[in-house]
Amino acid sequence: MRKLSRKLLEVKSVVKIFHIGGRFLGTKLKAVNNVSFDIDSEKSEILTFAGETGSGKTTLARMILGLEQPTSGEITYKGKNVSHIQKREELLEYMKEVQPIFQNPFETFNPLRKVDSYLFETAGNYNLAKTKGEKAKLVEEALKSVGLTLNEVQGRYPNELSGGQLQRTSVARALITRPSLLIADEPVSMVDASLRMSIVNLFSDLKEEYNVTVLYITHDLATAYYISDRIAIMLRGDVVEFGNIDKVMLSPLHPYTQILLKSVPQPDPEGTWKEDIKLSSLEVKEFSRLGCKFYERCPSAMKICEEVEPLSVFRDGREVKCHLYSEELKKEEETLPGSF
Ligand code: SF4
Repeated sequence: MRKLSRKLLEVKSVVKIFHIGGRFLGTKLKAVNNVSFDIDSEKSEILTFAGETGSGKTTLARMILGLEQPTSGEITYKGKNVSHIQKREELLEYMKEVQPIFQNPFETFNPLRKVDSYLFETAGNYNLAKTKGEKAKLVEEALKSVGLTLNEVQGRYPNELSGGQLQRTSVARALITRPSLLIADEPVSMVDASLRMSIVNLFSDLKEEYNVTVLYITHDLATAYYISDRIAIMLRGDVVEFGNIDKVMLSPLHPYTQILLKSVPQPDPEGTWKEDIKLSSLEVKEFSRLGCKFYERCPSAMKICEEVEPLSVFRDGREVKCHLYSEELKKEEETLPGSF
């Protein structure tokens, strides 16, 4: 008998390569480099993937949603390989359980269509309700869980709601299917600063009250710290530090995480990275370099970092991908009694 997976989601050695400027003559860009992590099915959590533009976090989210295929590696949901989902019923079931929340609520909804029609449509599409009354009940429950009522959105066009209300409606739409996993890609970056915390708090409430796990993709470390249980810091496709939120944010080990944290004006929840950290443009050079991708910008860079890609090591309760720690580990092993 096939054993049921205790993992909700498993991402195993996932790589995504894009070919820029043609498959044969262009440049290969490894947007996601050998990323592995899992999410337990027994306990809901908020797991953040944070990084600057071009870090690979959105590509990773798109692969989990099945919108991109990994070049290599495997993504499984409840033990089933997401890339192998082909039957309509299986796809529908996956889409029901794993729901996206996109960045710009004004792009999620057609400006010429009333927003409540999306909610009723979702309730109908997944065979969750047959009659109009059953659909209305589901829609009302979902709206209630995001602090809205049907009265507030019924008959309204997107431009008649505030950015915050619209993003809440977008979350309500996702909740209609009673998902286990929400993938929220920069869900507050287009929302007014004054409303940002209310959306972020909403994710915490959903985790606590509805047992929903949230994969929160953001460049905003302040909101990430506020709501997350675990965090993965991404840099040019690599996860460079990954672990418990307090460990990573209060005592960062990777030089990149340390610099990012210095640039966040904490504890201001609207704080974002300073201009010098945002980078003026995406540096393809960093993506394609042999050694550590942070080599040019790292204040602790060593000779080995220039040409040898660091391995992920487990250090002080988190994973960190940096030669400072793999070299330290090597020295410790060399001094162990009985070592040659
Ligand atoms: Fe800096 Fe080297 Fe660590 Fe990269 S591997 S972050 S260059 S010390």
